[in-house]
Amino acid sequence: MKNQRTVLVTGGARGIGKGIARSFLEAGHRVMIADLETPAEPGREWNYRLASATEMDATVDELSELGDVRCTPVDVTRADSCTTAVAATVDAFGGLDVLVNNAGIIGSGPIDRFDEAQWDRIFAVNVKGIFLMTRAALASLRAADNAAIVNTSSVSGKKGSPFIAAYAGSKFAVIGVTQSFALELAKDGIRVNALCPGMVGTAMWFDHLMANRGGADAFEKNMSEAIPLGRPQTAEDMGQAAVFLATAPNVTGIALNVAGGVQMH
Ligand code: NAD
Repeated sequence: MKNQRTVLVTGGARGIGKGIARSFLEAGHRVMIADLETPAEPGREWNYRLASATEMDATVDELSELGDVRCTPVDVTRADSCTTAVAATVDAFGGLDVLVNNAGIIGSGPIDRFDEAQWDRIFAVNVKGIFLMTRAALASLRAADNAAIVNTSSVSGKKGSPFIAAYAGSKFAVIGVTQSFALELAKDGIRVNALCPGMVGTAMWFDHLMANRGGADAFEKNMSEAIPLGRPQTAEDMGQAAVFLATAPNVTGIALNVAGGVQMH
């Protein structure tokens, strides 16, 4: 296929990342999914279950009918792991054109009881992970034609909310990082944009934010009432937008809301 691109998607084993992987495959591109190998290394357990090699393998099996999709383990908070994941992508596909920094975690709670280690981990995954993955991928992206980076921010990167200061702060930071990278890398022909999802029914909601408040059914009802377009967003909505951001030749430095009208600036 003409203009077939090689795309590396972090946090691609499930949720929004899986939707992004699916959309790139449907558009005819090659995809490397990178996610955690073990969700709960000692000392690194999170407050809800993260993905694992088993989930990543199952996703590759499911998506492989759409095109060339493979997977590699990564922990985006570790520089050596990021370097290894990029090298695995270049080995498998001969290069790298598009990096989608999608891995992310959330934690919530009142400020006076919010755990310091949890605050640090949210920033390590959501912000530092983008720096480490981008730094690891830069030589390959510079060698590609019309390379692009897509960073998953959030509508929480545009407006704060109570009880998620660490998450919202990290997602505001993603937009600042995106704009700075976009300006710094423009001369290399690398475009850098942020995707700001609204409300997508994934583990973040079902296993954490709404775990004790009715889960999936309550999520669907609440979001349908709160969102101007009358429905929550889907992982496929995010995939469609990520493909646009990665391929639109004159778009850089933007933070695109895909939120059914919840956020407009
Ligand atoms: P999710 O929990 O299903 O997906 C997050 C993925 O990131 C998981 O597969 C997880 O294993 C992976 N991950 C976590 N820590 C990692 C690490 N250190 N290294 C590598 N991978 C790691 O949730 P999701 O909703 O699909 O989230 C995807 C992105 O979308 C996140 O950046 C999130 O902040 C953002 N987002 C989600 C929503 C929403 O409504 N679900 C809204 C706005 C933004």
